[in-house]
Amino acid sequence: MAAAELSTLEELTDEVLLQTEPDDRTSPLADKDGVLRAGPIYTALMNLQAEEQCPFYKFVWINHAPPRVRFFAWLLVQGKIQCRTNLLVKTIIEDSTCELCKADAESPDHLILHCQTASQYWAHLGIAVRHASVSQLWLLERPTRIPTQHYHTFLLLCAWQIWKHRHDVVFRSKEPSLLLLVAELQRGSSPMETDCHEKTGALLRPGVQYFVLICSPL
Ligand SMILES: [Zn+2]
Repeated sequence: MAAAELSTLEELTDEVLLQTEPDDRTSPLADKDGVLRAGPIYTALMNLQAEEQCPFYKFVWINHAPPRVRFFAWLLVQGKIQCRTNLLVKTIIEDSTCELCKADAESPDHLILHCQTASQYWAHLGIAVRHASVSQLWLLERPTRIPTQHYHTFLLLCAWQIWKHRHDVVFRSKEPSLLLLVAELQRGSSPMETDCHEKTGALLRPGVQYFVLICSPL
């Protein structure tokens, strides 16, 4: 076995000539200092994806949400967040029961849209979720009081807040609570809002303003 692998390796390296001169290879994707960095390459890759090829591209990436929320959304619309049904598939846990309601499996759709706390939250915001799926979150009907240009940012922030609340319940022993979900914003200390201001400055403020405005006290 090892001999066969060695033979294959030797075939692959047979034509490689090592040189003593400095490596002066360049790449069109390298920065001005010649260093290849993941960020610009990823951006270029994303730009190559035409909207019709990737139905969620615009929703996930073209908005004013903080980078960590956009990354979460990228996982979410593909059903790949680390919820319990996905952890069960990976055999990390043995039971996929939702930590918030204890009544159903914690799938991405259940957690973000249909779990009791989540559905109450969406109803409080005036957004009907009924049979909606996170794979097409952008299709949720927009309440007229939310401006079109901020709606995608708004939806992403809502989903992110539910995810953060789930984190508080699972890892910080908080009780699932619509009051808590809404109260985080009223305190003005929501990690999400802090992220928004720190990471993207004034650009995001309109989205956050509408988010705070609409998440009025219960
Ligand atoms: Zn649940």
